Amino acid sequence: MVAHLPSPPASSDMVLRVRGVVQGVGFRPFVHRVATRLGLRGWVRNDSEGVLIRAAGPALAVTELVRALRAEAPPAARVREVEARPAGEADQGPAASFTIAPSGPGGLAVSTAVPPDLALCADCRGELLDPRDRRHRYPFINCTQCGPRYSILERLPYDRPNTTMRAFRMCPACAAEYADGGCRRFHAQPNACPACGPRIALRAASGVEIEGEVALVGAVAVLSRGGVLAVKGIGGYHLMVDAASESAVAELRRRKHRDEKPFAVMFASLAAVRLAAETSTESEALLDSPAAPVVLLRRRPEAALAPAVAPRNPWVGALLAYAPLHVLLLAAFARPVVATSANLAEEPLCTGEDEAHVRLAAIADAFLDHNRPIAHPVDDSVVRPAAAGPILLRRARGYAPAPLRLPGGIEGCWLCVGAQMKSTVAVAARDQVVLGPHIGDLDAAATREVFRRTVTMLGEVHGSEFTRVVCDRHPDYASSEYARATGLPCVAVQHHLAHVLACLLEHGREADAILGVAWDGTGYGEDGTVWGGEFLLLRNRQARRFARLRPFRLPGGEAAVRDGRRAALGLAHAAGDPGLGALGRRLGFSDAETGLLATMLARGVNSPVTTSAGRLFDAVGALLGLGAHNRFEGQIPLALEAAACGRAGAAPVLPLPLRPAPGGAGVAAELDWEPLVAALEAGRLAGRDPAELAASFHAALARGIVAAAREAGAGTVALGGGCFQNALLLDLTSAALGAAGFEVLIPRELPPNDGAIAAGQALGALWNLTTVQPS
Ligand SMILES: [Zn+2]
Ligand SMILES: [Zn+2]
Repeated sequence: MVAHLPSPPASSDMVLRVRGVVQGVGFRPFVHRVATRLGLRGWVRNDSEGVLIRAAGPALAVTELVRALRAEAPPAARVREVEARPAGEADQGPAASFTIAPSGPGGLAVSTAVPPDLALCADCRGELLDPRDRRHRYPFINCTQCGPRYSILERLPYDRPNTTMRAFRMCPACAAEYADGGCRRFHAQPNACPACGPRIALRAASGVEIEGEVALVGAVAVLSRGGVLAVKGIGGYHLMVDAASESAVAELRRRKHRDEKPFAVMFASLAAVRLAAETSTESEALLDSPAAPVVLLRRRPEAALAPAVAPRNPWVGALLAYAPLHVLLLAAFARPVVATSANLAEEPLCTGEDEAHVRLAAIADAFLDHNRPIAHPVDDSVVRPAAAGPILLRRARGYAPAPLRLPGGIEGCWLCVGAQMKSTVAVAARDQVVLGPHIGDLDAAATREVFRRTVTMLGEVHGSEFTRVVCDRHPDYASSEYARATGLPCVAVQHHLAHVLACLLEHGREADAILGVAWDGTGYGEDGTVWGGEFLLLRNRQARRFARLRPFRLPGGEAAVRDGRRAALGLAHAAGDPGLGALGRRLGFSDAETGLLATMLARGVNSPVTTSAGRLFDAVGALLGLGAHNRFEGQIPLALEAAACGRAGAAPVLPLPLRPAPGGAGVAAELDWEPLVAALEAGRLAGRDPAELAASFHAALARGIVAAAREAGAGTVALGGGCFQNALLLDLTSAALGAAGFEVLIPRELPPNDGAIAAGQALGALWNLTTVQPS
C-alpha cells in the first residue's frame, strides 16, 4: 500500500495587470496588505496602464490574491479587468518580501483612470473630530480612501511629485505614514498634517487676513450676519450664505445676477437633510457616497429653508459636507448653507485665490481660502433619483474622469470636443475613452478658456499628441470651431446620433437592432433644421431617421427657447390657426406682438423649423398656464413635471398618434402632437386641473414612444437627450416600453444631456457612424 504523502505546495510566479479606477484610491496599499497577509513575495506599482503586480509564492496564495483584487478592493476602486501571465526574464524580479515599487513611466496612451476626487471617509472623519488625534480639526485630513485626486493632478502617473501637493514637504510623522505599508496613509499622495500641510486663511474685503481656527470663527461670523462667504474647496470656490435667511439668499441672487435657478444646499449630516427634504434609501446612499453629489430631493413644506433657495420649485438640491473644511464650517455654523459654484452667471468656477479675489470682489464679503493649489476646476456633480435609477444630470466631482471602455482599439489619440451647452471633452486612445468633467456652456468667453485649458490638460495628463478631432455637425458651436482650427483630421457626428451612441457605449452594445430615442431641446439636423424629437433606427452600424415629432416653427429662434409662449404660437400656426390673435391675447402678448410673430411665422422669417421635444414641453407648459419663460434651462418642463408628479395614474388618456410622414420628408413616421394639444385645450376649457393635464401629457409622450418602437420593430430601445432628465418622463417611458416587451437602455454612468455628447462622438468615430440617413 502506498502512503499518500501530502504533495509539496505548487508554487507560482505571476505578473498581474489590473485595469480600471485603481490609482489614487488606496489600491497599492491594499495589494501590499493582502500580499503580505498571504506571505507572497513581489511588488506592486502604478504605471500608465494602471497597476502592475508581481506575485511569487504558493499557487493557492497567488490565486487568492487574484480573487481578492476584485472582491476586497477599496470602496472607491473599480477593477475593470485583471490579466495574469507567468513572470519572465524581462520582468523586474521579486524581492525577499512584498514591496511597493516606484511608479513606471507615464505616457504612452490613455489607459489609466485618472482618479476622481473622493469625499471625506469615515475613518478620517473620526480622526478629524478626535481631540487626541494629531489631525484633530485639521481641514486637509485625507487618506488613501478619500481626499482630492483629479483636482490636484497635473500629470500621470498619480504620484505626489505630479500633483499640486509637491509644494508641501512631508514632516517626519507624515513621511513615516506614507512609507508604512500597514498604514491607511501609505502612499496617500495628498497626505499632510497641521505641521507640514496646507492651511486656511480668512481674508476680509478690507484685506485683513487671519489664519487657523480664528479664520473659521470669522467665517462663521460672516454667515451669521447674513453675509456672502466664498469658500475654496476641492475643485473650486463655493459661495455660501445662511440657507435659512431669505434676505441673505436674495442678496446672493442679486449679486450673482441669478434669477430663479435653484441653489444647492449643503448639510452637515443625513439627519439634517431629512429635516429639510424627503429622502429614500437610494437617495441617502447617493448623498453619502464617495462622490457626494448634489441630489435633487423633494423639499418638505416645513423645511427651514428660505424660499429664495429654489423659488416655486418643489425640489431642493442637497449635498453633504464632503471636504473636512466643510465639515468643520457646517458644524460651527450649525445650520445648512447655500453652496453654489462661485462664479458670475454662466462663467466658469473660480479656483485660484488671486483670481477669486478679483472676480468675486463684488459678490463675496469674505474669502475662506487655503493654499493647496487646484490644478483643474471641478464642479459638484448633480444626480436625480428616479424609479428607473439615478439620473446623472452633471458628471463632475467624484465621477469624472473615470474612463469608459471602447469596444475595439483605436490608433493614435482622439480628441472629442462635445457640444456647446453642458460642454465636456473626451480623449480616446486604445480601448478607452476618458470623459472630462462638466465645463459649462461655451457661450461665455471665460468658459471657452476653461474648455481650451481642459483640452490642453487632458492632452498633457495622457502624454499624447492628438491625431484626430471629433466634433458635432453644428457648424457654429464653439467646440466645432475649435475642432476645425486644430488643423487635425476632423470628423463630425450628428448630435442625436451621438446621444444614442453615448447610451450604447456605457451599456457596451452594438449599433444593431436598436431604436435610439433622442429627445432634447436643440440639435443640428442632417437637413439643416433643428432636430430634437428623434427616433433613430440603428442596424449594422448604420443609422436612419425612422420617426420624429411633427415639425413646427419657432418664431424668433433663440428668443423662443427662453419664451415658451412663442413655441405655443408655433404649434397653433402649424395646426392652421391663421391669425393667432385670441391665443396671443390669452398668453399675454399684445396684439402688436402677436401680429409680428404671426407675420414671422407666415413668412418663415427667423422662424426655424423644429421637431424639438423640449420646445413641445415649453409650448404645452405655456398653454396650460404652468410656465411662460425659461429663465434657466428647462424651467418650464420642470414646472410641468412638478405639477404632473403623483397624478400620472389618474390622468385621462389623451391621443398622440403615430402617422406616416409626408412624402419627401426623409423620415418614415411622425408623432402628431396636434390631437394631443387640442385635447389639452379642450380639457383646460372644461376646467380640468392643469396638473392632471400635465400628467396626461407626460403619459401620452411615453405611449407615443412605445408606438414608434413597435412600428420600428427593434427589440431594444436606447434613450438619450436632455428631455430624459425629466424623471417622470423617464420612469413612464421605461415602464411602458418594458411592459410592451422592449429591452430599455437608460443613461446611467453618463448624463442623458449634452454632457455625454463627447463620449458618443468617440464611439461614432470608432465605428465610422457619423451621419443619420433619411428613412
Ligand atoms: Zn480618509
Ligand atoms: Zn505632517
